[in-house]
Amino acid sequence: MLVPRTPHQPDRPTWDCLACGEAWPCAPGKVELVEQGVVHRRSLRLYLESCAIDMIDDRADGHRASGRDDAIYDRILGWFDAHESASTDRATGRAA
Ligand SMILES: [Zn+2]
Repeated sequence: MLVPRTPHQPDRPTWDCLACGEAWPCAPGKVELVEQGVVHRRSLRLYLESCAIDMIDDRADGHRASGRDDAIYDRILGWFDAHESASTDRATGRAA
C-alpha cells in the first residue's frame, strides 16, 4: 500500500490535518497525494479507501469528526475519483 510522504496526514479521530488543521484531506495534502499517486494510482485509491473505513469506524465508536457524517465518500474519495475521471478524459480526448 502507498504510504504517503507528506506532513498533511489525518489526526484521528478528529480527521483534521496534522500539519495545517484543516479538514483532511486538505488542499495541500490532496496535491501531494496526487503527485505521489501518479505512479501508484491504485495504491493511492486503496489508501483512501482504508482512510474512509477508518473514519467510519471512528464515528461508529462515537468520535465526532469535523464535517458532515453523510459526506465521507465525497470528502475522502470523491475528489480523487473526480480528478481521475478528468485525467482519463484528457488522455482519451473525450469531453467531460
Ligand atoms: Zn494539511
